[in-house]
Amino acid sequence: MKHIRKYIIALSFIVLFVGCTNKAPITNRSQLILMSQSEELALGEKSYKDTLKKSKVIRGTRDANRIKNIGYKIAKVVNRSDYKWEFNLVDSKEKNAFCLPGGKVVVYTGILQAAKNDDQLATVMSHEIAHALARHGAERVSSGMIANGVQVLGNIVLGSQAPELTQTFNMAYGLGAQYGVLLPYGRMQESEADEIGIYLMHQAGYNVYEALKFWENMSAGQKSGNEFFSTHPNSETRIANIKKVIANIEKTQKQSLNRVSTPTVKNSNLGKKIQ
Ligand SMILES: [Zn+2]
Repeated sequence: MKHIRKYIIALSFIVLFVGCTNKAPITNRSQLILMSQSEELALGEKSYKDTLKKSKVIRGTRDANRIKNIGYKIAKVVNRSDYKWEFNLVDSKEKNAFCLPGGKVVVYTGILQAAKNDDQLATVMSHEIAHALARHGAERVSSGMIANGVQVLGNIVLGSQAPELTQTFNMAYGLGAQYGVLLPYGRMQESEADEIGIYLMHQAGYNVYEALKFWENMSAGQKSGNEFFSTHPNSETRIANIKKVIANIEKTQKQSLNRVSTPTVKNSNLGKKIQ
């Protein structure tokens, strides 16, 4: 009976929020996200500050500057006026990186072993930025809410900063290590982040073929225990999917060249702020 009640409450919320259906950039996939963009940005800001407080941020080195330079090139392409971009290199052996909503990007020094050049660094940074742009964390929190009888959602609706909400949010964005639980992204979200990421790095002027090399390097490290794969399942089809995305980009470019016009990304709603 209790379950039925929870189910009905969940359904009512779905009906209430169905008008807020979101669309992922580039892929235009419809998403059910039961969290406002502003709530998400506020949570991202808070999580970011908390994370940096606990981390050793590397400043002023060649690598720290590379992260910022690459980051700002990608940010220029993303063109989101509501994002306050920050790109930080953090001292950690973990081969990992993340981007929180609002454009808060952290790259761990460990990933520099797999990302051998700027193009490969741009691959992982674009991929993480794509997760944030496509609101994958909020999407996961939203499905989590439904499963939990929308108790957490109640807190969001009331605008409260409940600790359980912050924790769910952190887990959803791959910051779970500090909380003991890591939630992997779904296969669909992974390939979507790959697709959006490749478009971003391409538009920012990076060599998309280096993305294939980067994921090969990452797979090689996976056997010796790679933290990245605790939040990013290593899909055997990832490289094959990326090849398809590259082929699409090249096809679009050829068509554009034939029309003697500048190449553009079809169906891009990157710059659009979605509530
Ligand atoms: Zn990912």
